[in-house]
Amino acid sequence: MGTPSDAPELRRDPIAGRWVVIAPDRGRRPSASPSEAPAPSADGPCPFCPGNERSTPPEVDARRDPGTAPDAPGWRTRVIPNKFAALRPAGASGPEAERSGIYERMEGVGAHEVIIESPEHETELSALPIARIAEVLEVCRDRARAHAADPRVRYVLPFKNYGAWAGASQEHSHTQLLATPVIPNVAQEELAECERRWSGTGSCSFCALIEHERAEGTRLVAEDESFVALAPFASRFAYETWILPLRHASSFESAGGGELRALAAILQRTLAAMRRALDRPCYNFLIHSAPARQTALPWYHWHVEIIPKLSLASGFEWGTGAYINAVPPEEAAERLRAPERAPAERPAS
Ligand SMILES: [Zn+2]
Ligand SMILES: [Zn+2]
Ligand SMILES: [Zn+2]
Repeated sequence: MGTPSDAPELRRDPIAGRWVVIAPDRGRRPSASPSEAPAPSADGPCPFCPGNERSTPPEVDARRDPGTAPDAPGWRTRVIPNKFAALRPAGASGPEAERSGIYERMEGVGAHEVIIESPEHETELSALPIARIAEVLEVCRDRARAHAADPRVRYVLPFKNYGAWAGASQEHSHTQLLATPVIPNVAQEELAECERRWSGTGSCSFCALIEHERAEGTRLVAEDESFVALAPFASRFAYETWILPLRHASSFESAGGGELRALAAILQRTLAAMRRALDRPCYNFLIHSAPARQTALPWYHWHVEIIPKLSLASGFEWGTGAYINAVPPEEAAERLRAPERAPAERPAS
């Protein structure tokens, strides 16, 4: 069906029903194979550093000092299209799924952006002042709002890869944002399970979970008047941590300035605790939100998932979709609450 080209496309697996992005351009980006160096290579000038703005695609948004020009120094946070995008903007109308026999595919329409968190090359997100982390989160929210307004887009995922083991190919600290024309399977599964429970109980699973965890306390990592950070009851990965807003809201796009400042504070605290307790782990974080333009679902609750990369998935995980986690979440939460202790032992893979 069609000749292979460099344009990204989505293909639906007819056996598992999941969407896969086939993006040949991604093969040309700097290598981030975990079999190579544990940190991304720093060869050549960093395209994300101030002064090198011309070596990236033109910026689509930035928080910069008054009087400074786009694609020139003077920015604090800068958004650019990913040079090796998994999905690209194209066409006026939404892509149609195209069928051929048992196969289904779709043009890889969407967006893949990089949010450069800071002009300082060496500074990790959690080392920024809270106001600057809040600004990064605000930029993520604003980009999520902009993409969610596009009728071609059905889902927006802000995420971060920190370190080569987490898939980062640039050392300079950055967050990314993906806007997709389909609802990814992981989001679909969460939405379906939460809706199923809500139709039986009339309550949001996340709200129920927050209430339970705050009362029990053993899996709490941190809490304040707006958010709670906790090790989920059925954590898939060692030291997996979720950050949940106490206020029920299905969409990250609805978060206000005060809420994002509070999120910045608890995110900084949680990442700093992981850094101390786990000896600067590679990690991913992602923000799960309701699908685009579905801003007030009573059964879904936006949240942040942080996954330190301490071991690789094995055949057990790939074969079953189930996970083996060597660190009980109660123990993980205890270690993260007591960050002054010696680094925790990494689980064997
Ligand atoms: Zn840099
Ligand atoms: Zn809720
Ligand atoms: Zn989630």
